[in-house]
Amino acid sequence: MKKSIIILADGMADEPIETLGWKTPLQYAHTPYMDKLAKKGITGKLQTIPKGFHPGSEVANLSILGYNLLQIYEGRGVLEAASMGIAILPNELAMRCNLICIENNLIKNHSAGHIDTKEANTLICFLNKKLGSKQIKFHTGISYRHLLVIKNGNKHIKCIPPHDVQFYPFYSVMIQAKIPEAEETANLINNMILNSQDLLKNHPINQQREIAGKDPANSIWPWSPGYKPTIKTMQETYGFKNGAVISAVNLIQGIGIYAGLKNIFVKGATGLYNTNYEGKAKAAIQALKTNDFVYLHIEASDEAGHEGNVMLKVKTIENIDNYIVRPIYETIEQCNKLITIGILPDHPTPCSIRTHTNKPVPFIIYKFGCTPDSVNEFNEFSVENGILGTLKGDFFIKKLFEL
Ligand SMILES: [Zn+2]
Repeated sequence: MKKSIIILADGMADEPIETLGWKTPLQYAHTPYMDKLAKKGITGKLQTIPKGFHPGSEVANLSILGYNLLQIYEGRGVLEAASMGIAILPNELAMRCNLICIENNLIKNHSAGHIDTKEANTLICFLNKKLGSKQIKFHTGISYRHLLVIKNGNKHIKCIPPHDVQFYPFYSVMIQAKIPEAEETANLINNMILNSQDLLKNHPINQQREIAGKDPANSIWPWSPGYKPTIKTMQETYGFKNGAVISAVNLIQGIGIYAGLKNIFVKGATGLYNTNYEGKAKAAIQALKTNDFVYLHIEASDEAGHEGNVMLKVKTIENIDNYIVRPIYETIEQCNKLITIGILPDHPTPCSIRTHTNKPVPFIIYKFGCTPDSVNEFNEFSVENGILGTLKGDFFIKKLFEL
């Protein structure tokens, strides 16, 4: 069986930036290994966000793995539930539930100042006691990212991701029913948001946070609703035997579970820019010995983009090149030349706007001995001359597997 690995640099693509001499971070960064692979491999662009979908990581990553979003998309709550080991039943509605910070009725941030999991767990357990019932259950996830499950909830509601409405009055972006049958669910959740604000306001954890100068976690914010999806595993679709996913992000881990990929956990993999790059590369190299397909996801560049920190983003890209791409490429060249390498971001996260966009992303596919195209370096513009042009749907993953 042919083997392949995707190195997924979350949010790596960007726009030209004045302080970088109108280069993108990927153009500006010193990336000799990605450039070498672009030179030796074939390149193009991939439209990872299908028409009508928002540029979320769950949409982009499912798309890269070849899934037809129109057929399988059920929001990110259900995917994160899978990573948390929580089974969603056919009559249940699952939603991502953020702990957020509201100040003077405005959404100050979507993360309650990146609250840690221990404090968040206390608050989520407290909310579960006060607001939970046979119908409603909260589950603790990681940091500010949690799960809300509502029995017999209706998914046809309009929910706004809190990171898209920073500094909006919270009541102006609350949940709305899209169809009359969903009215009850929308009201139920909106009441829960208001109740959570009353309950969390004076909670000791928040009092301590405020004394320490941290943002209080003083509201829940549920979004991305969906039912249990029906997703074929990648083995079923592409006929390989076994695959693995390496990611610090529970959304990607959940996608892995539905896609039939085994999750491999790496010590020190944080999902931030200080992540254990070397450890993740080592784990991927190890995983390739026993797996036909490895999906190695690195979140760091996306976080830097969300912070709007240009030089940090450049650094994360250089780290990915040196600590991820270099060892994987060198090991493959030495040990098993038959492994195909794919490198791409899932979506751009431009530092200038600090959120995702839906532009096509640049990609490389490389396998020893393949006939290269004319592209000599890897960035958003160089690949416009790539031989594969702009791909959509499952064309990228099929190309990767067939090479
Ligand atoms: Zn992001």
